[in-house]
Amino acid sequence: MNFNLGIAAIMRYADQVAADTEIVSLFADERVHRYTYRQAFVRVRQLANVLDELNVPGDARVGTLAWNDHRHFELHYAVPASGRVCHTINPKLFAEQVSYIIRHAQDDVLFIDPQFLPLVESLQAELTSVRHFVALCAHDELPPSGLPNLLCYEDLLATAADSYTWPELDEQRACGLCYTSGTTGNPKGVLTSHRSTVLHGMAQNMADQVGLRAIDVVMPLVPMFHVNAWGMPYNAAMVGAKLVLPGPRVGDAGAMVKLIRDEAVTFSLGVPTLWANISQYLNASDQQIPSLKRAVTGGAACPLSLIQAMGQHGVALENGWGMTEMNPMGSYNRYQPWYDTMDEEDRDRQVLKSGRALFGVEMRLLDEAGEPVAHDGIASGALQVRGPWVSSGYYGQDTRDGWFDTGDVATLDSHGYMQITDRIKDLIKSGGEWICSVEIENAVMAHPGIAQAAVIGVEHPRWSERPLLVIVCRDPEHAPDHRELIAFLEGKIPKWWLPDACEYLRELPHTATGKVSKKSLREQFANYAWP
Ligand code: AMP
Repeated sequence: MNFNLGIAAIMRYADQVAADTEIVSLFADERVHRYTYRQAFVRVRQLANVLDELNVPGDARVGTLAWNDHRHFELHYAVPASGRVCHTINPKLFAEQVSYIIRHAQDDVLFIDPQFLPLVESLQAELTSVRHFVALCAHDELPPSGLPNLLCYEDLLATAADSYTWPELDEQRACGLCYTSGTTGNPKGVLTSHRSTVLHGMAQNMADQVGLRAIDVVMPLVPMFHVNAWGMPYNAAMVGAKLVLPGPRVGDAGAMVKLIRDEAVTFSLGVPTLWANISQYLNASDQQIPSLKRAVTGGAACPLSLIQAMGQHGVALENGWGMTEMNPMGSYNRYQPWYDTMDEEDRDRQVLKSGRALFGVEMRLLDEAGEPVAHDGIASGALQVRGPWVSSGYYGQDTRDGWFDTGDVATLDSHGYMQITDRIKDLIKSGGEWICSVEIENAVMAHPGIAQAAVIGVEHPRWSERPLLVIVCRDPEHAPDHRELIAFLEGKIPKWWLPDACEYLRELPHTATGKVSKKSLREQFANYAWP
């Protein structure tokens, strides 16, 4: 049957199979909002009527500056199912980038968490495409604001009809827009389609991948503005799983642990930094989270020490690799029973891998001459991908077909397990040979005195570049010195990879999506004087 895949179909399905399943949201003031999928979809239909009444054009970009909560969930459905494009904006980017992104996308309307109103007020004069500003709150929560005609979300919904006939949409139609900020130039917009979102969700939900079930309670720590919380608002609904949306307090490990316990969360997703916070909090508070069996670490390389630490708390931390251009997931490492038959060292190596490609994603590795690299788990090459949810170009730029260059360097083994070994731009070239920063970081992180570690290439008069180790110690009073760290690393990595020096920071710089920013570190140590 020629049948269009789309967001409205996910909604129809969840309404049928999970009408009474809950969506729970935590707010900054500790209030908990609770309703069911069926109740959510009533409001989604009201929201679609609101968009029509505001005369938001049928193909407009609708911007959101919001945390993970039920209102942001409603936007993820009403906007695309009515034909418009849900443009999630990362409010933690620099104000100039937020302004650039809104102007580039030509957003017609902005839905804003009250917390981000001052940011939008400061940019308002530049945002000439935006006809309406809507605060995501109830009437009595509306703060005084300099924005012209600021509308209130709950007021708009209160008077809107709750029936709506969803249009029949071509599955290739755009449904979401998310900007990715590279290290150079302006952020680039990645459009997703109804088709790519549904196919991605179906592949992600296969049993050997993320494999959600109706009995799961899913809590995305990763924000919806980071590629739709890696698909969760759609993929949890596709299986009818309960959703727990943690709101603005994701960085508060104590609040997250309480939420996991209160709602009996079984599955969660986040960048390694968030898991490190939670692991430390669990150690310090001696609390347990028995319901949480599995969780995804993604967005950046995860050290083995963190996987082991979460394992001790009963959580299998599984590596998921992806990127904004892949909507976002490309591969997944679900713990397999045969890992138990491996010896400890091999098993450690295995769980660290970035996983097998989701069905639908094809991968290849190329060397510097563009020739294929052996899939032996040892040789590394530039990782290229193709598939139905791989982006074919950036918003406002030409589209391309064929293989997409991820900018990552990886190995592939004979079982199809891929492992990211570095970003191409983070590789260190010393005396003409490549050094892999991620592997050194992983080895350093096994040292009990180290809380965070990053290795960057710094200019060197003899070797062109040498690795510099930048660390944050658990206890600065008892920081291991360079000599001790070298002794610790010897035998774990090739001798000529051993970092030439070590610098100590109180905190590593992070990007707006919570990853360690090596770009900032390279800038900070640009004129480094080697000891
Ligand atoms: P973003 O588009 O912000 O999600 O960033 C995508 C990039 O994050 C990828 O190209 C990788 O370099 C990195 N990344 C994502 N997931 C992983 C992972 N599991 N392990 C290592 N790096 C990752």
